[in-house]
Amino acid sequence: MFKYDSFYFQCPHCQAWLEGRNLKAEMVNQSILYSDGKVLNDNYITTPQKMILCPSCGHVFWIEKPVEPLITFEKPDADVYSWNTWRFFGISFSDNKGKLALINHYKTFLKKSHYEPKNEIYLRRFLWWAYNDLHRNLHYVRWRYFLNGFMSFGVWHCNRRLLLEGEKLFLRNLKDFNDNLKRLLALLEKHPEEQIDLEVPEIYRELRQFDKAKELLDKVGSRTHFTNELLRHSKWKDSRVFMVSG
Ligand SMILES: [Zn+2]
Repeated sequence: MFKYDSFYFQCPHCQAWLEGRNLKAEMVNQSILYSDGKVLNDNYITTPQKMILCPSCGHVFWIEKPVEPLITFEKPDADVYSWNTWRFFGISFSDNKGKLALINHYKTFLKKSHYEPKNEIYLRRFLWWAYNDLHRNLHYVRWRYFLNGFMSFGVWHCNRRLLLEGEKLFLRNLKDFNDNLKRLLALLEKHPEEQIDLEVPEIYRELRQFDKAKELLDKVGSRTHFTNELLRHSKWKDSRVFMVSG
């Protein structure tokens, strides 16, 4: 039994068929929440990909809501581009080159044309997450993840090298990261209906405006583990993305 349901949709330009996937919630073993709002279910990102680059003709199109007639759950009687060929524009994330390629895709999309605020927010949020992916699990470089038997020495060592290199690349791109976050913040403050959970205080924290982050978090009515963790990291003056639960 598959962990996901497939659906199929067509490129509006060349009519090629593409396979999409919806993860079945009841079959998820592990969910991870990061402070920037990115959620992974068994390593699948839960936020749907709304912007598609057709693997057949290179046409870029948006899928707002996967509904018929563009979408069908019946496998069409035609060649279908599998999910891996177009998901995240067909990029492989086994090294930092793939992560940088994803960043460059979003930057190019943003440069190429003017978007509705809702779509620009979507692209800038994904660009933010893509920068954070460079050092998202930096805590794994600590010795205790090897000593705990959490991973073998080979895996830990290889992972460590990748993460330390990712951290260097992140710092090298810090100005672009900050510029993107400032623009995203301005858009979200203008369009509060597009904000997700604690995204705004988190952006202030990642921009190292810790007092503003604390001020906003203090105003949150019901305290959760998430709010408390963001407050703790703001007090430590730590601006890096971290794992909230998982
Ligand atoms: Zn196409």
